[in-house]
Amino acid sequence: MQAQPLRKIVIVGGGTAGWMAAAPLAKLFRHGDGGHRCEVVLVESPEIGTIGVGEATLPPIRAYNETLGIDGADFIRRTQATFKLGIEFKDWGRLGNRFFHGFGNFGPPIANRPAWSYWLRLRQAGGMPSHEEWSTATVMARLNRFRTPQGEQPSPSNAYSFAFHFDAGLYAAYLRDFAIAHGAQRIEGTIVDVEQRPEDGFVAAVRLRDGRRIDGDLFIDCSGFRGLLIDGAMKSPFEDWSRWLPVNSAQAVPCARVEPLTPYTVSAAKPAGWTWRIPLQHRTGNGHVYCNAYTSDEEASRVLLAGLDGQAQDAPRQLRFTTGRRREAWVKNVVAVGLSSGFLEPLESTSIQLIVDGVGRLIELLPRRDCQPSLAAEFNRRMARQYESIRDFIILHYKLTQRDDSPFWRYCAAMPIPETLQHQIELYRSSGRVAILDPDSFLQDSWISLYLGHGLMPTACEPGVELLEEQALRDHFGRVHAAIAGTAETMPTHGDFVARVLAAL
Ligand code: FAD
Repeated sequence: MQAQPLRKIVIVGGGTAGWMAAAPLAKLFRHGDGGHRCEVVLVESPEIGTIGVGEATLPPIRAYNETLGIDGADFIRRTQATFKLGIEFKDWGRLGNRFFHGFGNFGPPIANRPAWSYWLRLRQAGGMPSHEEWSTATVMARLNRFRTPQGEQPSPSNAYSFAFHFDAGLYAAYLRDFAIAHGAQRIEGTIVDVEQRPEDGFVAAVRLRDGRRIDGDLFIDCSGFRGLLIDGAMKSPFEDWSRWLPVNSAQAVPCARVEPLTPYTVSAAKPAGWTWRIPLQHRTGNGHVYCNAYTSDEEASRVLLAGLDGQAQDAPRQLRFTTGRRREAWVKNVVAVGLSSGFLEPLESTSIQLIVDGVGRLIELLPRRDCQPSLAAEFNRRMARQYESIRDFIILHYKLTQRDDSPFWRYCAAMPIPETLQHQIELYRSSGRVAILDPDSFLQDSWISLYLGHGLMPTACEPGVELLEEQALRDHFGRVHAAIAGTAETMPTHGDFVARVLAAL
């Protein structure tokens, strides 16, 4: 006989992860729809704050918002959001280098192969401008233009994607209001004890400092780096990846907004890490991510503050972390989502994406009260594949460096890397191909942005791309280039587009 459906889900933690889990679950089980009901309860501590950073996202955040039925313009107003076309990398690879990792392709596919594979052939033959000329997102970013993609037929007007920058605190508050409006219950209190069933080790309840006991069938651990349930009660081991991703510290500071309002994140490499710049409507978010074995916190502050382009609004806030992941994010009736499940450092803004995918998978694999182990195994298999694939992509940023101006960069250039990444680099170097290990992480065009951004050309390209006549290909690339440049120039500036969205409310 099959087990009973869930009666009550308890979410532990009210940071970005907690409310991102609560909102779709509350909607799924909202009251008044009849049929099976399941309570959604979220516990957050007034004493233990949230991490309060996490302001840059990836394009699938839009699908997450749309599933909730969130009005795009209202979201932009309430979270002080701006649009993000990708990331500009400065001084990565070597000092003075810059490149862009944009959302979208390098032109429409040609004969069922990605346009970049033909670009590689033409570049090797000579006389080809940078690949970035064929990335609509990159050209728009360079011109500081933005408009949402338009039209059904493939064209430069829709050959790009976009994500958002937003105020993390405002986004969590926005989702909190949504979740509560859809029937989620919020409990304020600090959990001091976790009660497990003696017969099978399932979590039965959590206890708050004031003595309240909150029981449930399924517990979602969104308690951040603490991992209150997944680590504390379930003892799921943490895989430490700091030998490959050595940064372990960050300082964050907001500053006054400056003009123009740019539609991209900036990541600038520094002697022991890198800094971020995230433009929002009401301020600019800044941070310095570094390894404290290679620099002091004082020096890290100095580097961060020296790079600000607006008046600092506060003193830098210090954060520490260890890169890696929880080997099993789902154990028995506990599922870790957010920082409790792992952290890969913020370089490619992947944490919120991992929350989106974690919550999506949990809903897809929603258990009954017995929490069948096969569901947990499937969830863990897919999370592991995604984490490892993103891990390799982030390591690539460091490993391809030619910088030797500091001990940190010398370590990165020489460090051993996972076999999966070694394979990727060899495949690309020797044949101009990119293997995709996980369709839910970065795809081929992203890897190409990185390889070419670091100046790495393969020694050979696909034989198939030599089948087309060279001049016809050059003419094709010329036409696409002109169309992209012409389209981008007709778009409003990013600041004007944001103002138009807000004015239409
Ligand atoms: P937290 O925000 O730490 O929330 C934990 C919650 O658990 C809090 O509500 C707390 O009150 C509660 N809690 C803890 N213990 C208890 C207890 N005993 N009782 C009751 N409640 C408890 N991600 C991106 O996608 N893009 C970025 O640009 C980005 N930048 C980042 C930069 C840095 C330096 C760092 C460190 C992270 C960044 N992230 C980024 C990651 C992002 O901040 C997190 O993934 C996201 O905020 C989710 O955090 P969380 O909700 O898991 O944890």
